[in-house]
Parts: sequence; structure tokens; C-alpha cells
Amino acid sequence: MATFKDFRNKVKPNWCPGCGDFSVQAAIQRAAANVGVEPDNLAIISGIGCSGRISGYINSYGLHGIHGRALPIAQGVKMANKDLTVIASGGDGDGFAIGMGHTVHAIRRNIDITYIVMDNQIYGLTKGQTSPRSDVGFKTKSTPTGSVESSLNVMEMALTAGATFVAQSFSSDLKELTALIEKGIEHKGFSLINVFSPCVTFNKVNTYDWFKTNITKLADVQDYNEENRMQAMQTLMEHNGLVTGLIYQNKQQPSYQEMLTGYSEKPLAHESLQLDEEQFNKM
Ligand code: SF4
Ligand code: MG
Repeated sequence: MATFKDFRNKVKPNWCPGCGDFSVQAAIQRAAANVGVEPDNLAIISGIGCSGRISGYINSYGLHGIHGRALPIAQGVKMANKDLTVIASGGDGDGFAIGMGHTVHAIRRNIDITYIVMDNQIYGLTKGQTSPRSDVGFKTKSTPTGSVESSLNVMEMALTAGATFVAQSFSSDLKELTALIEKGIEHKGFSLINVFSPCVTFNKVNTYDWFKTNITKLADVQDYNEENRMQAMQTLMEHNGLVTGLIYQNKQQPSYQEMLTGYSEKPLAHESLQLDEEQFNKM
């Protein structure tokens, strides 16, 4: 059985020292090992942004795709090979701006993949512009006098779009994040995990200390029931979205694959190829 070390490769991340994305990488490696996935049975599909590089930093199948398009690719990979564990990943700009249409439809489609967003409330790769997750008044190169657009509450959005698994975590809480990724992988359907992952270079407002001061852990909320969608929405509104933990899970809703007539009986794309070794090596 693989350990988290088996998910390491020799590529050195070129993230800035202190970037939250390092912990997300470690959490994925640990969670994959903990749920018993093998590196050759894991596919990580990422979008564009600093965080999008993660698919190259983990020993698994990986594809560093195009901006905002991690989800269509990841859903296609899962449909073509149902035996793979598929993780899509990227940043808040990638998933909640250019990729938002795909995010909403992936949520309501409920294909059995896990989507991990590294949310730093800014565009880091392009050196600091507001993202859909930036707060009002946030000053960046694109908003020198402060942003006048309101920040998107993605967890509330996911609930209204019909998500069956909604979670949020903080990159410096490796234990909670790893446990949530494990639950997300094991969930039969689409799981969205938004991770507060500070950009230490360009976001000087939403820092590690800022999150530590402002986050409420759902484990500390009395009588919180993650199967109660109404309570999930109310709790998010009360805390302005700044909660971490498993926000909502619907275990009853079947996944897309389970709903699709004939899907499991038909040979899948890769199974019908029947190539011999020579043909395969030419591909
Ligand atoms: Fe991380 Fe920000 Fe550096 Fe990008 S610019 S690697 S998001 S700290
Ligand atoms: Mg970002």
C-alpha cells in the first residue's frame, strides 16, 4: 500500500517560500495514501495559476490544463476511466472567474470527482490583481483605490447550485484539510473543497494571522449538523463565509454515473481500444 512518500516526485515547486499551496500539496499526498489510492490510480487535473502547477508536483497522472478548464477535463477523465480517483485543482481566479460556468455545472452534474480550490483572494501568477474572492476595498494593481465589487461567497453559491459535498479549510490546518480531502475522495459525487491558501507575496491583507483571527471552525459550533442544508446556509451567512470544516454533505443523492442508464454496463473508452503492446507504445 502506498504511503504519502510514494506521491512525491523529484520536481521542486517554484512557489514562493511560505505560499499556502505547499500544505495543500502535502494534504493531497497524505489523504490519497490514507484512503488507499495508489499513484497510478490517481489523476490530478489543474487549471492555470500558481496553484495550477500542483499537478506537476505530485507523483500521479497529471494534466496542467487551460485557464478555467480543469473541471471539463477532469470530468472527461473520470467518465473515460471510472476506476481512477480524479482530483481537479486550481485557484480562485481560475475556478470562480473564467471557470465559474464549469464550476456551477460540475456541481449540479455531480460526477464523482474532488475539486480542490486554493483560494488566496488574488491573482498571484500575474503579480496581484483582484479576484472574485477579493473583499471590497482591497487595493491591488488593478484596483489602486480599492475594489468596489463584492466578494463571491462560494460556499453559499455551491449550496444553492445543488452541491452534495461542500467543505472549506485553511492551508495551515493540515490535519483538518487532510481529513476533508479524504472525505471528499470517498464521497460518491462531486465534492468541492475551498482552501484558504494565503499568497504571502501579493496579498498583505488576508494573511495567515488574518485567517487565524477570523476563522470559525465548525467543530466548535454547537449542534452543527452537516446534513442540514438550511443550517449550513445560515451558519455561512452568520460568519460571512469564514468557516472551516465539512459544511454540507448529502449522501443520498446518487452520482452522475449512478444515474446514467447503461454507463456501468458499457465498455468504457479505454477498455474498448484492445491495443497490443506495440500499438500502445506508438500512441
Ligand atoms: Fe503562492 Fe502568491 Fe507566490 Fe503565487 S505569488 S507562489 S500564490 S505566494
Ligand atoms: Mg488566486
